[in-house]
Amino acid sequence: MCLTIPAKVIKTNADKAVIFRDGVKKIIDARTVEGLKVGDWVLYISDIAIQKVSAKDAKEILDLLEYTNKTDPEGLNPVFIEIIKNSKTRKLNKEEIEFLLKTNGREKEALFSEADMIRRTYIKDFFCIHGIIEFSNYCKNDCFYCGLRKENDKILRYRMGVGEIVRAAEKAFKKGYKLMVLQSGDDYFYTKEKLVEIIKKIKEKCRVFIFISIGERNFETYKALREAGADGVLFRFETSNESLFNKLHPKGKNFKNRFKTLKFLKELKYFIATGSIVGLPYQVISDLAVDIMILRDMNADMISFGPFVPCPNTPFADKQPGDIDLALKMMSILRLEMKNTKIPVVTALETLDPKKGRKRAIKAGANALMFNITPKKYQPLYEIYKRRDACDRKTWEKYGLYNTEESYKMLEEKLRVK
Ligand code: SF4
Repeated sequence: MCLTIPAKVIKTNADKAVIFRDGVKKIIDARTVEGLKVGDWVLYISDIAIQKVSAKDAKEILDLLEYTNKTDPEGLNPVFIEIIKNSKTRKLNKEEIEFLLKTNGREKEALFSEADMIRRTYIKDFFCIHGIIEFSNYCKNDCFYCGLRKENDKILRYRMGVGEIVRAAEKAFKKGYKLMVLQSGDDYFYTKEKLVEIIKKIKEKCRVFIFISIGERNFETYKALREAGADGVLFRFETSNESLFNKLHPKGKNFKNRFKTLKFLKELKYFIATGSIVGLPYQVISDLAVDIMILRDMNADMISFGPFVPCPNTPFADKQPGDIDLALKMMSILRLEMKNTKIPVVTALETLDPKKGRKRAIKAGANALMFNITPKKYQPLYEIYKRRDACDRKTWEKYGLYNTEESYKMLEEKLRVK
């Protein structure tokens, strides 16, 4: 679950190798890779060599990340410099966050590079790769921005059977996925018992972490799923502005219930992944600043900001998409505030910028990825919006997924640490 970054071997002895990367030398255990010699490129996890790679593959992996240089502070707005300084010693206030959200030009680039530095310092090269199984596109709700909304009769609905879901999980597990997200609309066809059965069956067959993204359910259901082995929950509050929330959900969802649910999910000791949507119609900068402050105070384990993507056949079909830079600034500010939190590159961002979205997000402080592992025949039907997954994931899967116990244990440790 960790993209291992290649380093060049500069010295070896019987058991150890000295490697060099990013200006730093490091000693690793070389016993696990036969015949390691000076000049080789090697992948390593937790100070243990994993495998040799060719110079070409090493370049390909390094290209995924493309580290940024720290922006020269010369000529930057002094207010900006002061805020960055403050972020190192205390929580930022609302005005400071709003200032950063409005930055442009060199200050914006400096904000991204600061977040990138923090990510590299605190999280290093740990990139969590989540495999998402979208098992049902039915939903009882009618969110104005979402293509799965109940009133959308233009999409073909599907539900995967229990066996189908378990087989999809097994297939991904064999590829090396160790963290799977089971996602659906708010579809109560899947009862507590059915969901328990799915989780138990996957856990019996695969040593994986399971996150669920199934919308609003009661305490008893989430408790039963936790006991069945679910490790985490994806549950966004969407926006901290109650009147905006009510505009997006004239019926079905309840603002206060979102936060009530998040509270009991925490009590149940789930790994909590939450966040908001950026660039919603009627949303203003101060709403976003409050989103950040709430997320920070909530101390969530993983936080995502998805830019709004208009979807055909929804009431917001003709609205402007969210601004990618604004979503990236949200990620960067959050990275300033929460150094160790997982921040995923969401599919909405990759949809708006299929070529560079992922790389831009990583350079703005993100450190987790979401890959769709739903059986191919269902993928086009899960249309929250019109998706375009153009970013390549082959290199990530090849070098970020390992069928080793160390890899599982490392993920276990990382999911615990905040
Ligand atoms: S956002 Fe979620 S709850 Fe709302 S309509 Fe879409 S799938 Fe249903």
